[in-house]
Amino acid sequence: MADKEFALHDVVEMKKQHPCGENRWKIIRMGMDVRIKCLGCQHSVMLPRKEFAKKMKKVIEKAGE
Ligand SMILES: [Zn+2]
Repeated sequence: MADKEFALHDVVEMKKQHPCGENRWKIIRMGMDVRIKCLGCQHSVMLPRKEFAKKMKKVIEKAGE
C-alpha cells in the first residue's frame, strides 16, 4: 500500500470516530509525532507519525488548495 499523503493543517477522517460523534480532525502539528484536533470538541491527540498514518482513513480537505 502506498503512503498516504498528509500535510500540516489538512483536515482528515480517522478510521474510528471520536466519542463526541465528530470524525473530522485538523492536523495542527507535524513532526516525529502528529497532533490532531477534533473539529467537534477541540480535543487534541498526539500520535506517532506511523500510528497516525495507520489510523487515518483519508484526507478530506487539503490545506494548500
Ligand atoms: Zn471530539
